[in-house]
Amino acid sequence: MSSAAQTPETDLQTMEVDIACAGFGPAMGGFLTTLTQAWSQNPADPAFASRVAPDMPLQVLCYERADDLGAGVSGVVTRAEGIRSSFPTLDPAEIPMAAEVKQERVFYLLDSIGASRRSALLRFGDFFLGLGKKYCLKDHAFELPWTPAFLHKHGGLVLSIGQFNQWVGSQLMASGLVQIWPGTPVNGPIFDENHNPKSTGVVGLRLADQGVDKHGAPADGFMAGMDVRAQLTVVGDGPVGAVGQKLDERLGLPAGHARREWALGMKFVIELPEDTQLEAGTVWHTFGFPEPEIFGFLYVHPDRLVSVGIFVPSWLGDPARTVYRYLQHYIQHPLLWQHLKNGTLRSWGAKSLEESGKHGEPFLTGDGFARIGEGSGSTNMLTGSGVDEAWTTGVQLGEAVLELLRDGKPFMKENLAATYEKRRCASWVERGAREARNARNGFHLGFVRGLVGMALAGLTGGRLALRANIPPAPRQIRRHGMTETAGLKLKEAAALSVSDGRPLHDALMTARGWPEIPFDGRLLVTHQDALLMGGKVQAMPGFADHVVFLDNGRCVACEEKTCVAMCSGQAITPGPEGAPAFEREKCVHCGACLWNCPHSPDGERSSIEFTAGSGGLHSAEN
Ligand SMILES: Cc1cc2nc3c(=O)[nH]c(=O)nc-3n(C[C@H](O)[C@H](O)[C@H](O)COP(=O)(O)OP(=O)(O)OC[C@H]3O[C@@H](n4cnc5c(N)ncnc54)[C@H](O)[C@@H]3O)c2cc1C
Ligand code: SF4
Ligand code: SF4
Repeated sequence: MSSAAQTPETDLQTMEVDIACAGFGPAMGGFLTTLTQAWSQNPADPAFASRVAPDMPLQVLCYERADDLGAGVSGVVTRAEGIRSSFPTLDPAEIPMAAEVKQERVFYLLDSIGASRRSALLRFGDFFLGLGKKYCLKDHAFELPWTPAFLHKHGGLVLSIGQFNQWVGSQLMASGLVQIWPGTPVNGPIFDENHNPKSTGVVGLRLADQGVDKHGAPADGFMAGMDVRAQLTVVGDGPVGAVGQKLDERLGLPAGHARREWALGMKFVIELPEDTQLEAGTVWHTFGFPEPEIFGFLYVHPDRLVSVGIFVPSWLGDPARTVYRYLQHYIQHPLLWQHLKNGTLRSWGAKSLEESGKHGEPFLTGDGFARIGEGSGSTNMLTGSGVDEAWTTGVQLGEAVLELLRDGKPFMKENLAATYEKRRCASWVERGAREARNARNGFHLGFVRGLVGMALAGLTGGRLALRANIPPAPRQIRRHGMTETAGLKLKEAAALSVSDGRPLHDALMTARGWPEIPFDGRLLVTHQDALLMGGKVQAMPGFADHVVFLDNGRCVACEEKTCVAMCSGQAITPGPEGAPAFEREKCVHCGACLWNCPHSPDGERSSIEFTAGSGGLHSAEN
């Protein structure tokens, strides 16, 4: 790479590389693995000669905001078709916490407590199931007699995404072609503004400033974020990445596309008791509890470890979207508790999922840039699968880049479209995305219609699905007037939270009739203890706050305070003047605050800006 040089007008450091990458998740893993495998087979291939560093191989740099490469949060079951074609001789034993899928079951969970908000129709269904209790119910759960084909992952893998990322990252670093820099948030793309101030061409990445105060103003040890100029910028920064967001702001989305569907996934990693009956490779999918809209999972890893978690979707309209406490109730459901009750909590984590799929697909390429992974709309919400899709889009871009390098063609939109987009369009990822496009529409009409719509789409390959008008994420949060019962409960809980200092989400659940959690200090621990566990949430000093409230007056007037109730890390708390306060050191970077605000400045976005930030979870088990 060329040596760093000062840019006189801006006093910014600038570096030139061939390919600059933002974010290191499965998508980037697939991209960089494809490049490095081709290079290792033939390092003398002239296609790999750097254009910016004479007599050197291609200069490929990847920047990851988290403090290490194993901070990804998701216990995963995946068909792993794309992953296995990159590693045809893959032995799961090489990857910590990986196991072949052995058994897959799907359960509808009944409410064993009586606190969940079930519609009359669902209560009738539950009553009906109860009549046949002896025959079809066990442990307050009804097991579907078969796993629908669209859900099954036979032949696939159970993974810890943190461990998988570390395994991939160590091979990439050992190859010598790629440098990966953790702890380095990317502020955004550099647009090619020399030619046109509204340019949509990208000429690299700008890293976040360091040595600044919480508002971003220079402080002790100030170091302006470096400009990393590149012929190709690869954006794989996931669902809430700052680079992807800034591209969307500048380019807009293709006509008719919008990002309106989200979920927060939260999970525990639990060490099972020695006499556990759960075998590695066991996969359970659940729905119906703790609220009907909340889907859950249990994936068993080797060495008596289990990932157990839930997804709270944006279409759960209630402002009390209180994931940590819901997860504690979930693991206490009789079906799961019999296996988990003598276990020990090892770690936990939370992360947003972009669930719009094809509806939210952005412009995949432009002059000098390409987008891969979940931020590019690859996650399939019918099959509940994102990792293999993300990986495969990375592989497709890797193959496209190799083709262009070999043909000596520049990374302009038309060339990237003719190679990367063409591969993607012809692949199983696109077929799956089309089938899934409308699969979840029904949930905007009600839970039961949601299930019907999903089954229709799944069983007909997407040919049949329910129609629905999907509102922007802020409008999916129902406004409760303060005279309504739910509103009163919210107000009551907010008062309780301020008076005894307990988190708002906790107070809301109690006000709603959920029993208090019987903390045991081992598996059922307070949210605060979970945050402190093993020093797992940390943030380096010297970076600006990455959660910014855009309008103080709007926040003071806001009754719902959904951002506080939903915050996975208790990093957003009720502030003294009525506006919420943010503590960067507690933030797990789940991104939930980005889509959990009912008051939008423009009808589409929330009142929170979520920018590039460092720190977060420090656990490779996630
Ligand atoms: C609890 C949970 C369970 C899940 N279960 C499954 C499952 O069973 N099966 C399945 O297939 N999928 C599952 N998923 C979804 C899956 O995890 C995602 O689809 C997948 O991780 C997407 O990969 P990606 O590489 O596109 O993005 P990500 O994994 O999100 O990676 C993006 C990376 O970019 C980094 N980044 C973000 N912003 C910046 C910035 N400004 N600068 C630098 N770096 C940045 C992030 O830190 C992150 O490491 C689950 C998700 C969750 C949360
Ligand atoms: S960010 Fe949104 S939800 Fe949070 S207080 Fe402000 S207006 Fe309310
Ligand atoms: S402040 Fe941090 S932990 Fe809280 S919701 Fe936002 S991203 Fe998640």
